[in-house]
Amino acid sequence: MRDDVLVKVRDNVTKLVVLVNLRRRLFDFTHAGPTATHLGATRMIKQLKPHYYWPGLNRYVKLWYKQCVQCAQSKGPPLRPHGHLQKIPVDAPLEFVTTDVLSGLPTASDNSKYILVVVDGFTKWLEAYSLPDQEASTCITVVYNGFFPVLACRANCIRSIDEILKPLW
Ligand SMILES: [Zn+2]
Repeated sequence: MRDDVLVKVRDNVTKLVVLVNLRRRLFDFTHAGPTATHLGATRMIKQLKPHYYWPGLNRYVKLWYKQCVQCAQSKGPPLRPHGHLQKIPVDAPLEFVTTDVLSGLPTASDNSKYILVVVDGFTKWLEAYSLPDQEASTCITVVYNGFFPVLACRANCIRSIDEILKPLW
């Protein structure tokens, strides 16, 4: 016991001993929680083992991983082999913009539940916006009113600096 918490110390490594009724919740949170990415059993074990201990951790993690419906649905052989990753040529700011929505987050005080991440392929400029929903109209409104003006301003600033510096070269 250390500060009223049960720990296991071995070879100067301290691990938190997880009570029976909390083990599955810990797995669910780290495997499928708001910031989790449904790692496979081996990687889950690698993630949990340095910090937590309970008898049969490996066995339970493998079992619970097999019970994850999302992982089971996303598995299976691809219908055709994946192509090789290729560079996408981008010659100017705002020519190629990518977006992604992070979901499964707790509701914030302003009722936001999602984070929209927008990246410009040329400048690699990244902006993140909190959203109340992940509807296409909400996302595009944020991109038009938030991301595009910010990046357009930055691109103009870069061009202006370039024009200012040009005579000096
Ligand atoms: Zn999963």
